[in-house]
Amino acid sequence: MKKNLSWGNLPIEKDIEILDYDKKFFNKSEIKILTHGKGRSYGDVCLNTRLLSLANHKKFLKVDKENSLLTCSSNLTIKEVLNEIVPKGYFLPVVPGTQNITIGGAIANDIHGKNHHTSGSIGNFVKSIELHRSDIGMITCDENNNKSVFNSTIGGLGLTGTIISITIELKKINSIYMETVSKKFYSFKEFIELNNNFEKNYEYCVGWLDLVNLRKGSFRGVLLAGNHLNNETDKVNILKKSRQISFPLTLPFSLINKITIKILNSLYFAINKEKKSTKQTYRSFFFPLDIINNWNKAYGKNGFFQYQFVVPSKYAESFISKFIEILNENNQTPALTVLKKFGSIQSIGNLSFPREGVTLAIDFPNKGNSTLKFLQLLDKLVISHEGALYPAKDARMSKEIFEKSFPNKNIFKRDIDPLFSSFFWERVK
Ligand SMILES: Cc1cc2nc3c(=O)[nH]c(=O)nc-3n(C[C@H](O)[C@H](O)[C@H](O)COP(=O)(O)OP(=O)(O)OC[C@H]3O[C@@H](n4cnc5c(N)ncnc54)[C@H](O)[C@@H]3O)c2cc1C
Repeated sequence: MKKNLSWGNLPIEKDIEILDYDKKFFNKSEIKILTHGKGRSYGDVCLNTRLLSLANHKKFLKVDKENSLLTCSSNLTIKEVLNEIVPKGYFLPVVPGTQNITIGGAIANDIHGKNHHTSGSIGNFVKSIELHRSDIGMITCDENNNKSVFNSTIGGLGLTGTIISITIELKKINSIYMETVSKKFYSFKEFIELNNNFEKNYEYCVGWLDLVNLRKGSFRGVLLAGNHLNNETDKVNILKKSRQISFPLTLPFSLINKITIKILNSLYFAINKEKKSTKQTYRSFFFPLDIINNWNKAYGKNGFFQYQFVVPSKYAESFISKFIEILNENNQTPALTVLKKFGSIQSIGNLSFPREGVTLAIDFPNKGNSTLKFLQLLDKLVISHEGALYPAKDARMSKEIFEKSFPNKNIFKRDIDPLFSSFFWERVK
């Protein structure tokens, strides 16, 4: 059995075999499989008893400067792609909170970034996908060819076949630096007002929340916003190799508990001075967590759940106060918490998660049954507010919750590759 195949490090009871992808693979296989990227999904959307890895497959990348298009193999990581394209004056249109994910994984979960209000999710920029299916072989899918499979592969949780390469529209940049601002807020209402203002001037916005040091039932947080610096003289030179520290080992117990989180949050809140305008590299703005390799090990051998949902903006305020009530009644520890607003740009994937509203992503140490029961209470609250859960972060949502979150499930089902499945899909299909 392999460990650390998904980010939450939750105990896996089944044996898992990892096989190398090759072009003839599907002729030989009858047992269900799933393509695996970097295992940066938190739960079981990236797991199956048989995983197919493209890590040893050929990598390639080509930039069409005339049309600002990138064609590259799906096994490249965001980091590898940025290292190549940033010095040429380009950036990916959407990046997540870590650069250690593959392009294939980014498409299969139709990832969102801090710029949903200006750009939507990554699928909105994908021009075409080369997909290897076990039933019909290699196909190209885009808006004109195999359109249904195209819309099901974007956000398709790896179930429509193996993505071999993609072509995607790039964004032009003039600098490796970002101009950033930060401001503190002390209630959800304040967050929304601040965020609405920042959204007018900044391409990227994200909120960090402290849900453990509550004052009169209300939380505090810091809103960060930024733009790529547009200084023509500020050449897009190569960033020096970033310093990284590694979390050495998985401990038998979790270092993340109410006391440590209270201290960490207070420190973060104190260190984060309100700043009118500062300059920082794109890496420190987009990927601050990547500085500590394997920080997920701090949660110990039982791992942790990330719970990410979206609820429509019209319900967000009443939702958040009920949410805090449930949190207070249960002895769970909300650790790293990220709050964002999704804009109105629609995703094109049949199972894409992003949609207009407010999204919250919270890490909870796995305390066994009590955590599972608590998360079920949250499920009920999310669904009763017409919300949805994010499969990339999930390890336990029920079939019912999945169906309520993804009304296009039956359209999607028509495009599944018959040889593909995942632990996640076996639970919710
Ligand atoms: C610190 C951190 C921050 C994050 N921040 C964000 C964020 O801001 N926004 C966001 O949307 N997500 C975020 N995520 C989640 C992450 O971006 C997604 O889970 C992403 O899909 C992981 O990619 P991966 O390469 O690790 O793929 P895996 O986790 O290994 O797989 C994810 C899915 O992609 C499929 N897949 C992988 N490669 C292929 C392929 N070649 N062909 C077909 N299917 C494939 C798998 O079958 C699986 O269904 C974050 C994760 C971490 C750990």
